[in-house]
Parts: sequence; structure tokens; C-alpha cells
Amino acid sequence: MNEKVDMRGLVPESWACIDCGINTAPGVLNRVRIEQALAADWNNQGVEQTVDEWSEVYIVKPSVWRAAGMEQMGGCLCIGCLEGRIGRTLVPKDFPRKHPLNRLPGTERLLSRRGDVTFPSWADDSGRHGSEGDALKSDESPGEGER
Ligand SMILES: [Zn+2]
Repeated sequence: MNEKVDMRGLVPESWACIDCGINTAPGVLNRVRIEQALAADWNNQGVEQTVDEWSEVYIVKPSVWRAAGMEQMGGCLCIGCLEGRIGRTLVPKDFPRKHPLNRLPGTERLLSRRGDVTFPSWADDSGRHGSEGDALKSDESPGEGER
């Protein structure tokens, strides 16, 4: 068998943000490079891709992507430029939760938009114990009624 690997429509032509040019996936090959790598992968080992805390690889709902004026595989946008285009901050419900791309590590701003619970524990401030509201005891010294 001699199939040519065709990743068109699966992998972007480039991972660069089309607005600011930042590489949204420094550890990931673009389509042409993945095809080359897979073609050379005679042992079917797969091609290693790394997505780390410098990556902004994500999927938003089609309505959000359309609102940004983007086509399905129209390229990549970093979080900042996507938000600039839609004129608001992304919220967790903009990201289809079950999509595997939305479970990858990424930049802090991506994780915070996605509402990830993988945040460091210091970010969880809910179990804090306040002091009792007892400090305002009226403690007037007894008047010294001298007569
Ligand atoms: Zn950008």
C-alpha cells in the first residue's frame, strides 16, 4: 500500500496566528511537516508532537469562530487576537468541553479562559476562615461615678 498521507483539513497549514504572527504551537509541526514525518514513519510509531504551556491550541464553538470572521480551517488565531476580533473575553462555554484539543496544556490565559481546574492550589481561595465578627464588643470602661 502506498497511500499518500493527506492531513489537509486536519492540521492547519501554519500554526502562526494570522493576525499577529505568533506561533500558537511551538512544539507542533504544520501540515506539510506532519505529512513528511508521517510518510517517513514506516514503522507506524506516530509522530511526536508536544503541546506545552507555550501553546495556544484550542477549539472554540463554530459560532464564536464565525463571529471572529474565520472559516473552518482559515488559520490560527491566538487567544488575544481572537478576543480582539469578537470584542470580548472568552469564557469556558465558548470551548466545546469534550474536544480533545481542549484538554491540552496551554498558556495561562488559555487555561483561565477555558476554566480549567488544573490551576495551582493557591488560586483556590474558597476555603478561607474568617475571624468571627466579635471584635466590635463595646467595652466602655465603667464610669467612675464619684460623688
Ligand atoms: Zn495573535
